[in-house]
Amino acid sequence: GRMRPAGAEAITIAVANFKGGVTKTTTAVTLAQGLSIRGHKVLVIDCDPQGSLTTLFGILPDAEVEAEHTILPLCLGEQDSVEYAIRPTYWDGIDLIPATSVLFSAEFALPGRQRDEGQGFQFWNVLHYGIEQARQTYDVIVIDTPPALSYVTINAMMAADGIITPLPPNALDFASSVQFWDLFFDLTKELVARGKSKRYEFVDVLLSKVDAGDIATNVVREWISAAYGSKVLPIEIPKTSTAASASAEFGSVYDMKPGSAGSRTIKRAVEAYDQFVEIVEAQMVGAWLRQAQQLRES
Ligand code: ADP
Ligand code: MG
Repeated sequence: GRMRPAGAEAITIAVANFKGGVTKTTTAVTLAQGLSIRGHKVLVIDCDPQGSLTTLFGILPDAEVEAEHTILPLCLGEQDSVEYAIRPTYWDGIDLIPATSVLFSAEFALPGRQRDEGQGFQFWNVLHYGIEQARQTYDVIVIDTPPALSYVTINAMMAADGIITPLPPNALDFASSVQFWDLFFDLTKELVARGKSKRYEFVDVLLSKVDAGDIATNVVREWISAAYGSKVLPIEIPKTSTAASASAEFGSVYDMKPGSAGSRTIKRAVEAYDQFVEIVEAQMVGAWLRQAQQLRES
């Protein structure tokens, strides 16, 4: 793939937040599309039993996806590597592992495997090991997560090199994002204590669905930058109906042609997403260079 040094592996990015409706799935899809437009080979993994990302790729989760073609068999221990679940999509350069509602049962299976397989087995590393082979094939793996700090979400976070947390600047979404990070850091502290250290290449907070006309926006934006500092990306995705309808059926934000009503916000959204993708790409390249250097040193 483009710019990937020899020996370097896919960069895995989890899009995560405690809450629903904060544009996780929209961000995951647009990031995948933007990176593929920039020449990267992308695998997208839908880890949300609601299957919204699967739907955006034109596949109906409950009608067209069998449980055995999701990450469920990996979580159950019936499969060791995700290749069995990968399928092409309508979008050239993006492959998908879809989700369906049955994936919810992974929540019960994962901790049970810990008991069955003893002390050495780590239930939070199932996805990490499951994508080991795929990391050789793809330039980037984008994981969409459910709106909960579930076992599957923890697996996604532990498999990731980088995390993107989309966050609309309103008070309730901000409060729950802080709760998300507190819980996550408590949890990782515990995992680290159990012998697993985790260092991310990047953790980005992406302000999204930004309604510049809302008087509360400026205040909450200040809170967010006080809480997350340099993690907050220097761009924001405006609130627009364009992003809201981007899908296999309606076309991606990249297909939207300015010219109709609302074309100015459309243009701003496309430009903002473009800049977002560019920043993430730069972070990916940075991570690849560090990988390549580690290879040289070992
Ligand atoms: P999540 O995955 O966090 O639940 P979604 O990506 O499904 O969030 O987005 C939640 C809702 O917000 C969807 O209806 C989506 O179409 C809409 N949406 C996404 N991006 C924007 C945006 N920039 N402006 C307005 N609405 C948006
Ligand atoms: Mg979602």
